[in-house]
Formats: sequence, C-alpha cells, structure tokens
Amino acid sequence: LTLEPMLTLENVVAGYSAVPVLRQVSLAVDAGQFVAVVGPNGAGKTTLFKTISGIVRPTAGSITFEGTDLLALPAARRAHLGIAHVPEGRQVFPSLTVMENLEMGAFTAAGQRDWKHNIQRILAWLPVLADRRGQLAGTLSGGEQQMVAIGRGLASSPKLLMLDEPSMGLAPTIADFIFEKLIEIRRDTGLTILLVEQRVAEALESADHGYVLEAGRVVLEGDNRTLRADDRVRQAYLGM
Ligand code: ATP
Repeated sequence: LTLEPMLTLENVVAGYSAVPVLRQVSLAVDAGQFVAVVGPNGAGKTTLFKTISGIVRPTAGSITFEGTDLLALPAARRAHLGIAHVPEGRQVFPSLTVMENLEMGAFTAAGQRDWKHNIQRILAWLPVLADRRGQLAGTLSGGEQQMVAIGRGLASSPKLLMLDEPSMGLAPTIADFIFEKLIEIRRDTGLTILLVEQRVAEALESADHGYVLEAGRVVLEGDNRTLRADDRVRQAYLGM
C-alpha cells in the first residue's frame, strides 16, 4: 500500500501578468508532516501559498489535495476542504476584537461543528488571546496579532495549516515562542503544517522536511537533518 501525499504540486508555473514567479515547482506534503519552505526574499514563497490557496492561478502544472484537483476549485471551496492560509503580515481584522477574529476563522462547516472544542484548545495554547479576548485586534502587538492569525486559522478546523512567515517583524524571543507553539500544536493534534520562512535555522529545526526555493525553483529538498547538514544551506542560510 502506498499512501498518496496529502498535498501534491507538480510542475506548477505561476506568476503575475505573464511574468512567471514559480518555474515548475513540484513538492509534496504527507498527512501529519511538518514541511518548511525556505529561501531568500522574492524567491516566490508567498506566491506558492497563494497558488495553493487559490488567490493566484497557475498557467501550468497540477495541484492535488487528498485526491481532489484543487485547480478546479475557487479559493473558498479549497478552504472548506481543509486548507487554512495564515497570510504574510497576519492580516487580522483590526477593528474586530480578538474573539471576533477567531470566530471569523470558524467559517467552514468543520469550524462551525468543532467551534467549542477548537476555541478551548486555541485559548489553552495561546492564553494571551484569552486575556485579551475583548481587545480590538488592531491594538495588539505584532506577536499577539500573529497569535490571533494562527488561532483564526486553527478555528477553521483545517487538515493543512499553511503559515506564511509567522516570524516576520517579530523580536527573536517572540519568534521563538511562535515556533515552539507550532511544535506544541502539531504534537497535540497531528496537524499537517506547511511553513514558509526566512528564519531558516528555526524553520528547519521545527519541521521534519524542507524545500529550498530560489528564484522560483526548488533547488534542494530533504529531511531537516540532511538540509541542516548541507554545505549550500549552511553557507547561504545558516551563516556557517
Ligand atoms: P518575500 O519573503 O519578500 O515575501 P517571497 O519569496 O514570498 O518573498 P513573493 O512574494 O512570492 O516572494 O514574490 C516573488 C516575486 O513576485 C517578486 O519578484 C515580486 O515582486 C513578484 N510579485 C509578488 N506579488 C506580485 C503582484 N501582485 N504583482 C506583480 N508581481 C508580484
């Protein structure tokens, strides 16, 4: 018996108005796996996520999620299948409270069904959200806003949680806290996680498997230990 990966991209080409950003990207995420995509600014990491969640339409290639052809579905349908996209820059609803932001995340059928269970767990993982449940999200610190964005993603009861640079703009200690939380949430739930990061060391320590994306191409792939030991990764990304 060979199990299909949960998410498969094959030779995906995508970009903006005819300029390709992703150049034949192939990658796979198994159920329960924690996968990191790392690479420099402008490599196409955000475009990759937008292509999976349905904001950007590829011009070639295929994307399958649990056997379903994702490219046949609009973004909203992909969310209902269980793909949560925690966007770059958090994008919380600034004039809604913390609790209202979390409720907005529960827009899927699974999120509605599991709300009571999910909100208990979200507030247990991220107690600062419980303390600030009535505060307007726009008045939170960057780290707190990131926690709201992660909580909102979890509130949809996803099968796959995609996080676009959750550490962006955060002090190192806050960023470390976020990485520890992802490991904890993954350990408690077995959730499948796809992470995009510029903090390569932390990302490769948190994940099981990684891809290095440079100029729209996957240039290296491997389990986290292999990548951390790779000379190119050590020189280009780990400062060794
Ligand atoms: P960063 O970490 O800076 O977000 P990234 O790896 O996520 O980098 P992308 O945001 O995917 O990279 O951007 C890849 C390329 O696509 C860049 O050259 C960028 O200028 C271009 N690009 C991104 N968004 C658009 C857009 N809406 N219209 C045109 N070009 C875009």
